[in-house]
Amino acid sequence: MNYISTRGKAPACTASEAILQGLAPDGGLYVPENLPFLRNLRYDEISSYPELAYEVLAPFFEGDELSGSLAEICFDAFDFPVLFHDFDDRRATLELFHGPTAAFKDFGARFLACSMERLLQNRDRKLTILVATSGDTGGAVAAAFYNRKNIEVKVLFPKGRVSERQKRQLTCWGGNISAYEVVGTFDDCQKMVKDAFMDQKLSEEWGLSSANSINLGRLLPQAVYYVYASLVFRATHDGHEPVIIVPSGNVGNCCGAYWAKLMGSPIERIALAVNANATIPDYLDNGIYRPRQSIATLANAMDVGAPSNMERLFHLFPTIDLFRREVSAWSVDDGTIRRTIKEVWDDSRYAICPHTATAERVRRDHFADAYSLVVSTAHPAKFESVVEPLIRTEVEIPGNLAALLEKPTSYTEVGVDYHLIF
Ligand SMILES: *Cc1c(COP(=O)(O)O)cnc(C)c1O
Repeated sequence: MNYISTRGKAPACTASEAILQGLAPDGGLYVPENLPFLRNLRYDEISSYPELAYEVLAPFFEGDELSGSLAEICFDAFDFPVLFHDFDDRRATLELFHGPTAAFKDFGARFLACSMERLLQNRDRKLTILVATSGDTGGAVAAAFYNRKNIEVKVLFPKGRVSERQKRQLTCWGGNISAYEVVGTFDDCQKMVKDAFMDQKLSEEWGLSSANSINLGRLLPQAVYYVYASLVFRATHDGHEPVIIVPSGNVGNCCGAYWAKLMGSPIERIALAVNANATIPDYLDNGIYRPRQSIATLANAMDVGAPSNMERLFHLFPTIDLFRREVSAWSVDDGTIRRTIKEVWDDSRYAICPHTATAERVRRDHFADAYSLVVSTAHPAKFESVVEPLIRTEVEIPGNLAALLEKPTSYTEVGVDYHLIF
């Protein structure tokens, strides 16, 4: 399988090369040259999630140097469950938050870490991964790369702007993970990372690399749970295919859903739920794509005004007509997020996080009678300061998260200058 750049001005490459490079040399994003078609897989053939992952991903790694270790990578990366919560006989939630940092980013980050570790071993090379984080990404990346050979990680987060629980998840590692509390904003952190990459000499000396959501190694594993979930849903709902509603920010997660659908997964339709950052619903309304500055909301992992994976969706659906045929999207504001968390709790005593609430609102307002699957991207205990006052109950902290929160922390406070972290 070859990978090409969405901008079409870079040479085609293998999956491994795309994973090591991150961004294509022409500034575009890597996408598979064509999507493999799923063989007609039966539900009762699925023996475990990692085995299904191997089956789905094998064609993407055909002829690649990782193809021989792909099964091992899947068992290493997907060592936690994927669960469903049923509201009734039509409506379910797909819980993607049972990984080590209790958010769906664990799937992508762990698969990327397992792949990179093997690629570096083959090459006898070392890498240093730089991540600027406003909360969730840094934790998932730190957890996934912890103790991986030949890889060092430097996580930068803005002082006073991440929640206490998020800070603990960023600073509890030690070993090959270093955390830096930057006296500045998230934008300052991002600029430090950019400046470090621009410093050619430093960049080569440290083997700087990134692990953000544009990396192909984070995208591919996100198609797998849509294949899995749609097969399980159809088999347990009399052959009905679900509408899948995805809380979206940089649109990496829903891109995995579209890849799964185009490969032949039994999915009726894919809908996006966004917060007040309405770039995509506005595009659907007026046909003009206008990226913009982001607005801060309660669903902060989706605070994105210029979604970085949009180029991949445009590559799939290049005209507004094609885009409208496949994509629906609605924006949900903070007041409505609050109301929805409360409504779901009152209806069924099920706590959801603010991101999941955007998708649940879209289901209730636009797909009330459909067979549907809302994607739950994070455990509500990660956002207890929003959720608990609304449901007036403490959200129990799941075991995976509790274990992290109990570890001792260490980090270094630094000013806004990338030299300080090397
Ligand atoms: C990252 C994140 C999202 C947004 O996912 P994208 O792939 O950027 O669209 C939604 N919810 C949570 C909890 C996240 O961490």
